[in-house]
Amino acid sequence: MTVERAAELLSASQHAVALTGAGVSAESGIPTFRGEGGLWTKYDPVKVSSIESFLADPESYWKVSRERGRVALAAKPNPGHLALAELEAAGRLVAVITQNTDGLHQDSGSKRVIELHGSGRKVQCLDCGRLELRADVQARLGAEMPPRCRNCGGQRLKPTVVLFGEPMPVAAMHEALELARNADVILVVGSSLVVYPAAEVPLVALRAGARMIVVNAEPTPFDRFAQVVINGRSGEVLPQIAALISA
Ligand code: NAD
Ligand code: ZN
Repeated sequence: MTVERAAELLSASQHAVALTGAGVSAESGIPTFRGEGGLWTKYDPVKVSSIESFLADPESYWKVSRERGRVALAAKPNPGHLALAELEAAGRLVAVITQNTDGLHQDSGSKRVIELHGSGRKVQCLDCGRLELRADVQARLGAEMPPRCRNCGGQRLKPTVVLFGEPMPVAAMHEALELARNADVILVVGSSLVVYPAAEVPLVALRAGARMIVVNAEPTPFDRFAQVVINGRSGEVLPQIAALISA
């Protein structure tokens, strides 16, 4: 059975690392970008999520972001996030590297979380640099569109997420690649593995000799390199794996 094999690999590991994508938060009610019901079936990603379009028209950006923020700020960790936190607490996982910006890994109790695409929980003024909580900015959207900086009055407040056309956070990418180089197991969860350089993480781990486990709703281009592929929902599969390990 694949769940048993995944539990065996993790139990025998010393430096297992997880890489998560939007799929791990789907069962918390946050839509993924790709796949069935994904946001990209509704929006043109480059139009709504690039730094060029943000700078040209912050109001249009915030109209879309307002709706997504409402959902993301209200979301709670699901059993998949909790199982990953449990695996870390049991010493079976060194860290979670995530492409997500929703903060749900931290909420679920995971201690070492590396955010490759930044965090949606904060907003920064591109004019004066001041940081604010997203929840505070969210509360005044509508009354202010686009929202204004409380410090300098500027109208270029941007969530601290990585938009298309922006560089990856250097320190996070460096830490992720270091973890990948030292990993003996790489557990990929809820990622289509088509977004680079995030998909570089499992490639580096594989090159360093790691075994790979993929838990995803649909096949990924990396499945042929994996010892275990489980096509299912992470909120159901990860708790089964964690339960076998703690048994
Ligand atoms: P993706 O949207 O490209 O792919 C998500 C994958 O998860 C798909 O292959 C889908 O089949 C799978 N999936 C859907 N539901 C699942 C479930 N319940 N269990 C397991 N798998 C499931 O996501 P991505 O590869 O992470 O790339 C999109 C980028 O957009 C991310 O890098 C991220 O920065 C951003 N994003 C973030 C969030 C978030 O923070 N929650 C949400 C959407 C997009
Ligand atoms: Zn400002």
